Amino acid sequence: MQKYDYLIVGTGLFGSVFAFEMKKAGKKCFAIDRRSHLGGNIYTEKVKDIQVHQYGAHIFHTSDKKIWDYVNQFAEFNQYINSPVAIYGDELYNLPFNMNTFSKMWGIRTPAEAKGIIETQRMDAKRAMEERNVSEPGNLEEQALSLVGRDIYEKLIKGYTQKQWGRECDQLPAFIIKRLPVRFTYDNNYFTDRYQGIPIGGYTQIIEKLLEGTPVRLGVEYRDFLKENASKGEDADVFGKVLYTGMIDEYFDYCLGELQYRSLRFETELLEGCDNYQGNAVVNYTEQKVPYTRIIEHKHFEFGTGPDTVITREYPAEWKKGDEPYYPINDERNNELFRRYQELAAGEPGILFGGRLGQYRYYDMDKVIGAALSMVSDELKG
Ligand SMILES: Cc1cc2nc3c(=O)[nH]c(=O)nc-3n(C[C@H](O)[C@H](O)[C@H](O)COP(=O)(O)OP(=O)(O)OC[C@H]3O[C@@H](n4cnc5c(N)ncnc54)[C@H](O)[C@@H]3O)c2cc1C
Repeated sequence: MQKYDYLIVGTGLFGSVFAFEMKKAGKKCFAIDRRSHLGGNIYTEKVKDIQVHQYGAHIFHTSDKKIWDYVNQFAEFNQYINSPVAIYGDELYNLPFNMNTFSKMWGIRTPAEAKGIIETQRMDAKRAMEERNVSEPGNLEEQALSLVGRDIYEKLIKGYTQKQWGRECDQLPAFIIKRLPVRFTYDNNYFTDRYQGIPIGGYTQIIEKLLEGTPVRLGVEYRDFLKENASKGEDADVFGKVLYTGMIDEYFDYCLGELQYRSLRFETELLEGCDNYQGNAVVNYTEQKVPYTRIIEHKHFEFGTGPDTVITREYPAEWKKGDEPYYPINDERNNELFRRYQELAAGEPGILFGGRLGQYRYYDMDKVIGAALSMVSDELKG
């Protein structure tokens, strides 16, 4: 029998940061994961000298120097800047929407010209709404048209968004797009954060370092682990508390109903003898008729120069029980349901819920690290 302060369910970034910090504070942790590998969704695997992001492209970016310094303890980051391009038919545009995009779209050069065209198209959209007696955008289409006008919407937003959500844009709520940043400079850097990069050698090494000294069991489901442990009788290990980074509704056996997600299907291909498939790490396909939303060419994250390449097509998918839940759908119904699950959680002593699934929200990696550090600090206080 062993005594542990914490059983950590999930070896993703949240659980691993928690384990690292708790170990530093002298606490004993044991971690488990249902997957056969560490790292949750940031897991990367080397194929032909290329670090393949197994669960979608992961680019680290943050404006928080403390978080940047923190993550740099575990890996050296390169100077990768995310500059995706979008393909619409046989037209290619830079993202995010900036002067390179506008120049290509309208054959113009100056910010004043671009602002003029966007403003005219926004006014057209407002007028069309007024004619229908609509004062505020009532769906995503109206919202996008009133923010950026018809050309950008039709070519770069409409098809992509419909594929992402599996519904027509005029059937989607306006709140999904609160803002659509347009940049009147020739700047293709997708993120506005001060710090950005890719860990040289992939993300898995970060998780391995975070979990150094913490015993881990992979390929085991939480409930099965508990049963198995209980079956050892007096020899069963004892855990002071549980940190659960899986789905909160699953933990409670969906007793209040299911939270909803969007899922993704990844189709990965090794292209031997092709040294450069698309010339960029991230290429978005914005037409409805192309069934995938993006193609990722992994070698470009680390400026690879080898003779082969690996690409992944990303297909958005409906989520059903048993699928990977990638994106929470934070509409009113789901947020309310999550709040009720949180009430249940508050009545459950000795269990903490963390990470993107435990908190039912989309978290970037920097935010996950921040949230794990603050949970550790709360725990140690008291
Ligand atoms: C497609 C995609 C692209 C992304 N791109 C970026 C990006 O570019 N930049 C960025 O900053 N962030 C990005 N993110 C977000 C990033 O993936 C998350 O911030 C991070 O992975 C969350 O870590 P986590 O530990 O909370 O969750 P997870 O990584 O999901 O880890 C949870 C772990 O718990 C395990 N688990 C769950 N339930 C059980 C159970 N019952 N028993 C045992 N084990 C269990 C799971 O197997 C999993 O390994 C992206 C996310 C997605 C979906």
